Amino acid sequence: MKLAVLRLSHRVIRDKRISTHLALTARAFGAEEFFYTGDHDTHVEESIQKIQQEWGGELAVTHIGKPWNFLKDWKKQGGVVIHLTMFGIELSDKLEEIQDFREGNVLIVVGGVKVPGQIFELADFNIAIGNQPHSEVAALAVFLDRITEGKARKQKFQDANYEIVPMEKGKQAKKI
Ligand code: SAM
Repeated sequence: MKLAVLRLSHRVIRDKRISTHLALTARAFGAEEFFYTGDHDTHVEESIQKIQQEWGGELAVTHIGKPWNFLKDWKKQGGVVIHLTMFGIELSDKLEEIQDFREGNVLIVVGGVKVPGQIFELADFNIAIGNQPHSEVAALAVFLDRITEGKARKQKFQDANYEIVPMEKGKQAKKI
């Protein structure tokens, strides 16, 4: 399954950290691409580049100017759209159905400010990570972790300059 993430309605002032955290989460939990709509903010791209220079990986970050065209094209090309929302169906009840698309391109959509109703219509799945409001970062992490069966977060990244040496106490990173 090729996983990509679309973050809707990024706002430069309010969402700088959270959109960067979404991209970091996408990278760490197995997505290959990160798209965002709303304000174009090079801070998001630069932060990920900086992390990847040290820790490796090649998550591509792209601003999308025309979200509807992008989403329609994604579907036209046979991709699946999964919108994460507390109003959707609990992930555990849909996991098997989603796993049927393991050969496909899956776009995971997360909101910020109010998500337009058309997204709920356009999505192939509206999935809840529990039916309580929490955060797009939490929703994305849980979704990706479940869909990759916890494997993606254990991956080694290509071209890393540093690697953590896991330990019970203390902090160590070694140069590789
Ligand atoms: N009312 C929103 C909703 O539809 O889930 C909550 C807004 S929340 C600040 C921003 C984003 O976090 C949502 O657009 C959704 O993608 C994600 N989110 C929050 N809680 C969620 C949940 N329980 N399940 C899935 N996604 C959630």
